Amino acid sequence: MNKDKPSSGQQLDSSRRRFFATAGGAIGVAVLANAIPSITQAADLPHLTTDDPTAKALNYVEDNTKAPAPHQAGQECSNCNFYTGAATGYGPCQLFVGKSVNAKGWCSGYAKKA
Ligand code: SF4
Repeated sequence: MNKDKPSSGQQLDSSRRRFFATAGGAIGVAVLANAIPSITQAADLPHLTTDDPTAKALNYVEDNTKAPAPHQAGQECSNCNFYTGAATGYGPCQLFVGKSVNAKGWCSGYAKKA
């Protein structure tokens, strides 16, 4: 066997590595390309205000430490099941479509993230 010339098995392994390296990179780019518009859209959503009628009805507050009962310590939008944003700043809430809520906020629709 010629030590300088790769065997067909080695060539196949090399081809597989190249394929997975290329495919993995392409998939990563596709995932990022899909994520960027939603991040941009979430950032563009207007902030929910406490003057909003639905916000008032659900006792929404921007600072969970000032939330009325039945609020319990540790409950905040960032760990609510209806929140889909980042742990800080503002993000979308499924109860307030088209608006973003404060990650540190709270409302009486709170449901602990599963
Ligand atoms: Fe925050 Fe959850 Fe109320 Fe939405 S439903 S405002 S995420 S506590």
